[in-house]
Amino acid sequence: MIPPIFTKFVELLDEFPEIGPRQAWRLFFWLLRQESGKRRQFFELFKTLSDQVSHCTICYFPAIGEMCHICADVKRDHSRLCIVARETDVLTIENSKKYKGRYFVLGGLMLPYEKRDDISKRLQDLPKKLKNIKTVLLALPFTREAEPTAQEVERVLKHIPHIKIIKPQKGIPQGGEIEFLDPETLQEALFKQE
Ligand SMILES: [Zn+2]
Repeated sequence: MIPPIFTKFVELLDEFPEIGPRQAWRLFFWLLRQESGKRRQFFELFKTLSDQVSHCTICYFPAIGEMCHICADVKRDHSRLCIVARETDVLTIENSKKYKGRYFVLGGLMLPYEKRDDISKRLQDLPKKLKNIKTVLLALPFTREAEPTAQEVERVLKHIPHIKIIKPQKGIPQGGEIEFLDPETLQEALFKQE
């Protein structure tokens, strides 16, 4: 019989997005194959991270402390806000070096078959984050799946006067996830419109 501690651990790995049971087991065996020092380092680092990490009180990007490194940067343009679905979208946009404003991370997409109170709560918070914001860029995935989220965001923004809303216009292919876009496409579809 497989030791229960094995299955318990694999069940946790199986909960990772886009990881199935088979991959979870492969990952598990891979972890066990690593030498003990590396394994210990991995789990100690994860424990420290887990103890220290929280979400930025302004944009919800993971942060050590109250504010993330982006919101804490005084050189950023604090009149621009880019709304993204996921944390990895922030990394892609940052790597493109085409944008110098702040972000607002929704934490995923609102899907009809899945209740996402966490996203709804962040959206309720959104109006409070718009002080001094002049332009909002909607950098949500250009997919049918993202439509309900985009509509919800726009519904919230509609009641806020004096805010220019920029939506992806062109260049983003249908089915385009922000995190996979190259800097030129991002520039063409979003940042050039400002
Ligand atoms: Zn932040």
